[in-house]
Amino acid sequence: MADEKHGSVINIAVIGGDARQKIIAQTLCQKGFHLYLAGFDLLALSEPGYTKCTLDELPLHMLDAMIFPVSGVMSNGEVRSSFSKHNIILSDENMERVKRDCLLFSGIRTEWLEKQQHETVYMMEEDEVAILNSIPTAEGVLWLLIQHTEKTIHQSRILISGFGRTGMTIARMLKALGAHVYGTSISKAENARMVEMGIEVIPFPLCRHHLSHIETWINTIPSDGILTMDTLSWLEPKSTIIELASNPCPEQKKNAEMLGLNYIEAPSLPGMVAPKTAGTILADAITGKLKTDGV
Ligand code: NAP
Repeated sequence: MADEKHGSVINIAVIGGDARQKIIAQTLCQKGFHLYLAGFDLLALSEPGYTKCTLDELPLHMLDAMIFPVSGVMSNGEVRSSFSKHNIILSDENMERVKRDCLLFSGIRTEWLEKQQHETVYMMEEDEVAILNSIPTAEGVLWLLIQHTEKTIHQSRILISGFGRTGMTIARMLKALGAHVYGTSISKAENARMVEMGIEVIPFPLCRHHLSHIETWINTIPSDGILTMDTLSWLEPKSTIIELASNPCPEQKKNAEMLGLNYIEAPSLPGMVAPKTAGTILADAITGKLKTDGV
């Protein structure tokens, strides 16, 4: 990949994030881009091609691309940063200094990003990224099940709500391990896919009768209407819930704990269990987009 644009170096800032962002930075650096890393002060990075800096030191007016974490940017401009004692907070003034043709990358769509005047790529909305990302996610679910439940996965009764890119991969993996896998979805096509895969379909919306025998519930539906006080109360106490969907409402954790359920909120599993694989998936998608856009 060319490292020059109009005779000058291509400048990319990786801002905050977890171990996946480190892999993205390494991959892009190897491809000849110049990388600024903000929010990485706890990491020793001295290789050529990197400039570690604070937000104030970042040459915002020179950037050709800004890469935010999979979790994106929060409504107050805050970016989570695993390798810094402090999260980064971007202001409107900061963004006014960024060139209009600077391309932004984020995993998921957030209100703050949608407000910006810059073209933004939401990587998890790209099927090829989300499908590949579902593999480390499913492995992360196995890791949680082994740690947090007392029975084998084999023969356990596990419900997966939502049967999109993530739910389907998890279902396939658990089924292969001998679990009794149940699925529920609003979509007729996804229900048909469950039947094809030998997964028992539970009608949506859920009812007490179907939930009472479930031992573990894995939710991938990003909606506050799924893990409600009602549905949670239909589970046996001590059942396990793994919430994978982004930005769950804080009430559900409180409600689940009040009901004696084993509630696990599990954001960013790929970054925890397989940062190299997950980071490479993202880096390849970013490189492809930069190439298409001629950056
Ligand atoms: P997806 O392919 O879009 O699948 C989402 C599923 O939820 C589909 O079955 C969809 O049904 C259903 N759904 C969405 N909104 C609904 C609603 N209001 N009511 C009922 N069903 C609804 O998404 P995905 O890639 O699998 O990701 C699912 C969630 O997991 C996202 O929030 C994503 O950010 C998160 N995720 C988390 C991790 C982690 O490590 N925690 C990893 C990967 C993904 P339709 O197909 O009919 O719309």
